[in-house]
Amino acid sequence: MRGGAGLSVSNPLTESTAHELVEKFRSGAATPSAATRAYLDRITALDPTVRAYITVTRERALAAASAADERWRTGRPKGPIDGVPTAVKDVLCTKGVRTTCGSKILERFVPPYDATVIERLEAAGAVILGKTNMDEFAMGSSTEHSAFFATRNPWDLSRVPGGSSGGSAAAVGADLAAAAIGSDTGGSIRQPGAFTGTVGLKPTYGRVSRYGLVAFASSLDQVGPLTKDVADAALVLRVIAGHDPLDSTSADVPVPDYAAELSRPIAGLRIGVPKEYFVEGMDPEVERAVREAIEVLQRLGATAEPLSLPTTDFALAAYYLIAPAEASSNLARYDGVKYGSRVASAKDLIDMYSKTRAQGFGAEVKRRIMLGTYALSAGYHEAYYAKAQKVRTLVRRDFEAAFSRVDVIVAPTTPNVPFKLGEKEDPLAMYLNDIFTIPVNLAGLPGLSVRCGFSLASLPIGLQFIGRPFDEATLLRAASAYEQATPWRDRRPSLG
Ligand code: GLN
Repeated sequence: MRGGAGLSVSNPLTESTAHELVEKFRSGAATPSAATRAYLDRITALDPTVRAYITVTRERALAAASAADERWRTGRPKGPIDGVPTAVKDVLCTKGVRTTCGSKILERFVPPYDATVIERLEAAGAVILGKTNMDEFAMGSSTEHSAFFATRNPWDLSRVPGGSSGGSAAAVGADLAAAAIGSDTGGSIRQPGAFTGTVGLKPTYGRVSRYGLVAFASSLDQVGPLTKDVADAALVLRVIAGHDPLDSTSADVPVPDYAAELSRPIAGLRIGVPKEYFVEGMDPEVERAVREAIEVLQRLGATAEPLSLPTTDFALAAYYLIAPAEASSNLARYDGVKYGSRVASAKDLIDMYSKTRAQGFGAEVKRRIMLGTYALSAGYHEAYYAKAQKVRTLVRRDFEAAFSRVDVIVAPTTPNVPFKLGEKEDPLAMYLNDIFTIPVNLAGLPGLSVRCGFSLASLPIGLQFIGRPFDEATLLRAASAYEQATPWRDRRPSLG
């Protein structure tokens, strides 16, 4: 098939998963340079349509790939993702490479250091293709709130890819990267994962270092993989996870060999199905696909039982106090002084701060800053912020009670299939897209979304697995068993 720039863009290398690619490197059937060039060609041909990338780091990628060629050629690869072309959300600092966070205020910001996740990926040999589009400061669920442009859903270009990691999700979904990194504060890996039919994994809070991740809501933010299949998520998580002395919230908990866990059967696994995650108003096609997926898991030997997470109804409200409160404090650093853009003319310092912030931030970011500042202000702190923190504790306790009875919770990732660009102009309608993902962040738990079917209009549907703290292994194992037992993985969008 031919792409827009007249290049041949259909290529077995870009259709391979990361682990399949690495098998080809091992056998000598392909090299990291060939794979990287295939991806760069496909980006040239198709990204003007999909618009997943803000920055493509072509020369750097080719140099990294040729170093990886040499390691594979001499039989000394750095590990199971050596040479894998990988995209990174533009929220992670990359030394010498512009990091915009989807915002005008950081449009020309070039970090002097790499995030720990970037260091770990590169130390494992990953080839970084570029930085992907996102909702400004990761605030949003559609990638339409990027200050630069909207990203399209590879399954239907008139629809959103989800957000805020929509660029990373679309890149993997459209075969414009073998794997990608996103961040998830209230659903921003899992929801775009569901919308693009990719695997999105939000690790346990503390599992992956946040050093060099531009902060949105520090008590909720986590970095994780978006991949073509579950086995790839296992490989990437293993590389990026683990204690980091540079992030005081990163946990010193051993990182298992996730890939080795995948082959263990799921017979006897106890699955909980929370009744609050099947709500009135959700898309019946989503509900049907998820209920059928639960039957598949039962056929594989798991047991399923209904349960209740009664505080679910209050989680969204609590999140929209806690996350903006933390954001209002985190975003105070963009004042035009230390880094980022500064207005050219201002009459004094206060005028400079206010003009810089007025011009630099988009409408959604301003809304969150105002909401958060209000929630923290004297007189309202107890009524709003403190109360939201109490709700957060109740949400966590609901999950703790559930996990005394079951090993994993299964639910839809989102209440709907991908919506049209421009469809959700009312902020509340946008916020409601995250009702099934936000409680997981409030409780600090790991969550994974995997493709579980398609709507009649051929839009992907996501199945969410929620686990105990630091038990990503069980999520990966259950999701992998499901993926192997169903045909969904084989379908790809018809982009060329
Ligand atoms: N959509 C949610 C928000 O707008 C979550 C975003 C995220 O996880 N970064 O806050």
